[in-house]
Amino acid sequence: MYNKEIEKAMQHLATITKSQLERIERMKAAEEWVNFDELDTIVIGVVGGDGIGPMICEHAKNVLEFMLKDEVEKGRIEFRTIEGLTIENRAKAMKAIPDDVLEEIKKCHVILKGPTTTPKKGDKWPNIESANVTMRRELDLFANVRPVKVPDKGINWMFFRENTEGAYVLGSNGINVTDDLALDFKVITTQGAERIIRLAFEYAKNNGNKKVTVVTKANILKTTDGKFLSIAEKVAKDYPEIKWDDWFIDIMTAKLIDPERASQFEVIVMPNLYGDILTDEAAQIQGGVGTAGSSNIGKRYAMFEAIHGSAPRMVEEGRAQYADPCSMIKAGAMLLNHIGYAEKSRRLDMALDICVQYEKKLVITGRPDGAKGEEFAKYVMDTLSDPGLESKWQSYQK
Ligand code: NAD
Repeated sequence: MYNKEIEKAMQHLATITKSQLERIERMKAAEEWVNFDELDTIVIGVVGGDGIGPMICEHAKNVLEFMLKDEVEKGRIEFRTIEGLTIENRAKAMKAIPDDVLEEIKKCHVILKGPTTTPKKGDKWPNIESANVTMRRELDLFANVRPVKVPDKGINWMFFRENTEGAYVLGSNGINVTDDLALDFKVITTQGAERIIRLAFEYAKNNGNKKVTVVTKANILKTTDGKFLSIAEKVAKDYPEIKWDDWFIDIMTAKLIDPERASQFEVIVMPNLYGDILTDEAAQIQGGVGTAGSSNIGKRYAMFEAIHGSAPRMVEEGRAQYADPCSMIKAGAMLLNHIGYAEKSRRLDMALDICVQYEKKLVITGRPDGAKGEEFAKYVMDTLSDPGLESKWQSYQK
């Protein structure tokens, strides 16, 4: 019974197994981490994206240019605007990222990217793949790193979400074996798990964190999540000074909103799907998706972006100028840290804290009753120029 269907499913499994084994070989051959200190010029590609993207991306770029003025003049930093990653262009080329745009992106070291629209069923665009998913794959951006801070609750989390495998890598490669049987596939590899877990432990080591938390559902998904967990156990042995624990994703979603427990988490690492869910929950705890920045890190490239989307409704209603640029500016702070300007990054984080959480001279509402994005970016730059920035920030910590 069902011999033909089983044969077809086996062939499908053979094809995807081959593709994943080839991916493992590529990971094994991957180059070493870029050392930004050794580069004469660091090229920052600025990709506006869709909807509110170009506007908020411009504001974030202005803040970075303001902070890196001397470095730009000396030729150490180059900002390069990359046009063409728009939904109109992508639809015309019928590609998630048109070839010429991808080529330009690959000539940069890091990318500051505005949100891009992903077509969905029923809208006017052809069904092309998400530009983000494609960029993560093309540039091998295996770590999605997102900080979340709520100072008055003692929360200071750093999330490391695996970005290239898990439940997503074969998300469009499931199979309907019969009308009654649908199968999807989840993939965890030794190389994929090890590189993200190691990155999380390295971060903890370099930033004075005492604990790494690993989130899985290894009690149920014993093979894939079980592998992720056992690799964590192995990697942890290389970091005896850092404690680690493991939680299952279901209880973890609850513990993030448990005031007793929440402040005890520090660095959190997990496979793709759990990270997708948990980081949005965490951003909401911080004050909404407009407040969080996100980075996508690989050994050769890195991309920094807002965690929200292109908000097409704001553009349709003529409100794009009131869009909140803070998530993009926060992404800019992460970019500074990544390319070796840790002190500038820290100052930008402090200025954002002062403007968004404490002083609040201007407030963004997304509507004409609030500040414009451009005005807010100027407020951030004025705050950065204040010689008393550090002491002002300290005074709010008491
Ligand atoms: P969205 O995040 O774009 O917007 C939802 C609502 O949140 C908006 O209508 C607006 O009211 C508010 N909002 C979002 N960002 C804001 C900002 N900076 N300032 C003020 N208000 C803001 O979510 P969506 O409508 O579900 O998605 C729109 C498009 O964006 C989709 O095509 C989606 O695929 C895409 N998207 C892209 C990314 C990305 O590029 N990283 C991420 C998520 C969604």
